[in-house]
Amino acid sequence: MLIEKKGDTKRIGFYGRAPLAKTQEGLLLLTKSWSGQGPFLTRLRRAESVEKRHLYRGIESCPVCGHAQTISEFIVDGWEWSGLLFHLVEEHNANVPEEFREAIRRICKRARTQRPL
Ligand SMILES: [Zn+2]
Repeated sequence: MLIEKKGDTKRIGFYGRAPLAKTQEGLLLLTKSWSGQGPFLTRLRRAESVEKRHLYRGIESCPVCGHAQTISEFIVDGWEWSGLLFHLVEEHNANVPEEFREAIRRICKRARTQRPL
């Protein structure tokens, strides 16, 4: 899965309206689930729910299966990711660069320590 740079921000998981032919190279779909995929999805959901810094972007279709869903964008810690990312990982085993997995781990860790007792 490609990481695009936009200024100081790194973007990942944006494929919304682009034709599949243009995006499949960057998707890195795997035939099987990858090691750590389940825990990653759990953390991704948590990061998306605790940060609440998202912009609603409308309805977009998955470039792989055409599944349409409401898409939000999440912008946290210099990372910007699409709400479609969860679907791509869960349904299509899209591989995610370690750099992004690490960022999600950091966000969850911080959320845990900041939560009031
Ligand atoms: Zn899909």
